[in-house]
Amino acid sequence: MRNIVVVGASVAGLRAVETLRREGFEGDITLVSGEPHAPYDRPPLSKQILTSEIGPAELQYREIDWFAQQEVTLRLGEHAEQLDVRAKRLRIGGQWLRYDGLIVATGARARKLHTGRALKGIHTLRTIDDALAIRESILPGTRVVIIGAGFVGSEVASSAASSGAQVTLLEVAETAMSRAVGAQLGHVFARLHEEFGVNLVCKARVTGFGGNDRVQFVRLADGWELPADLVVVGIGVEPNTEWLSDSGLTLDDGLLCDDTLNAGPETVYAAGDVVAWPNAWWGGVMRGEQWLVAADQGMHAAQNLLLGRARARPFSTIPYFWTDQYGCRIQVAGRTDLGEAVSLIGDPSQRPFLCAYRHGNEITGVFAIDAPRAFATLRSRMQQHRGFATATEGVSALADAD
Ligand code: NAP
Repeated sequence: MRNIVVVGASVAGLRAVETLRREGFEGDITLVSGEPHAPYDRPPLSKQILTSEIGPAELQYREIDWFAQQEVTLRLGEHAEQLDVRAKRLRIGGQWLRYDGLIVATGARARKLHTGRALKGIHTLRTIDDALAIRESILPGTRVVIIGAGFVGSEVASSAASSGAQVTLLEVAETAMSRAVGAQLGHVFARLHEEFGVNLVCKARVTGFGGNDRVQFVRLADGWELPADLVVVGIGVEPNTEWLSDSGLTLDDGLLCDDTLNAGPETVYAAGDVVAWPNAWWGGVMRGEQWLVAADQGMHAAQNLLLGRARARPFSTIPYFWTDQYGCRIQVAGRTDLGEAVSLIGDPSQRPFLCAYRHGNEITGVFAIDAPRAFATLRSRMQQHRGFATATEGVSALADAD
């Protein structure tokens, strides 16, 4: 291969580029990004950027000079429009670009709430430009209505509340964060919102917005009109696969790949939020929406592309995420929907709190609030299949590790 194109310049795309050079690939690399910015770190967008603890410059993963030094051609602000795998070329800005190897890392975009009129003051949050626009409007006393109490909604609620805004968080499910951690642990998040003065309204269905030019209220299915100066919609994401629609690749809630992250043709691999793949550890096809999975997949896809199909290795991972809300660090690894929950530190109404999910003697998941060391210990025991038979044994395993 003399020429590799990576489409998508978030963490998966950047890690792919770094890995290609680290593994000794000396040919041409082109990194294409629909966003006009060089690769930057997204997790702080809903946290430290909104609270102004850091500025946009601090998000930059690499100085722009690094790309020149590594002889990587950056094509920023350009969208891939079409892929022709037979001719090994993709269309960008109406022009065809040839490749010998391709890594698809186009990620996902925020899902929109389709309620008719577009009004000023209604935002989604996925990019640095989104975050800066939201930050501008969050002032002490601002009435912020957030739709969706998942990752984005919960973190924005925490950031806005700490800036003195009056926050209402609307969730269609029965509690916060239930998609990520299930209803039982979701109540832990719900209690945090309550404790820090955020009004969480569950089973709330939004039917529309009101206002002239700018949003003034959010209308709910029961007719309630909730006054709003700013609305943030965080109701999940949709993978960016439209440009692949006539490529012949398999699209099914993302780009379907095999267990090596290969998308079908020998020279096409994929990484990040756009990929649906059979994760052996998980026990089925999944699409990861986690920073660490995206970063690891970027490296893995690049390595497999260079190794070639016969030597490509499967990618299996234990999902992990963290979220910072109201000054608490919450970490989750593995599956919290399997097995029996065993509390090892505190109980769900306390901080710190740590529980393990256990199936037989095997640990299937770990959940922690403000217990990072104990979490790390249990997470590595889970990776090594070193479970425990009783809660007492689990507690003493943690004490030994300490
Ligand atoms: P999310 O975590 O999937 O949460 C969306 C929430 O909105 C779900 O609870 C969903 O409920 C609810 N919802 C859906 N439609 C709704 C409606 N019409 N009205 C009210 N609630 C509604 O998605 P997200 O918060 O938008 O986050 C987007 C992405 O950013 C995710 O991929 C996430 O991984 C990533 N992210 C991660 C972090 C982190 O890891 N700390 C931080 C920020 C963002 P149902 O489940 O019932 O549909």
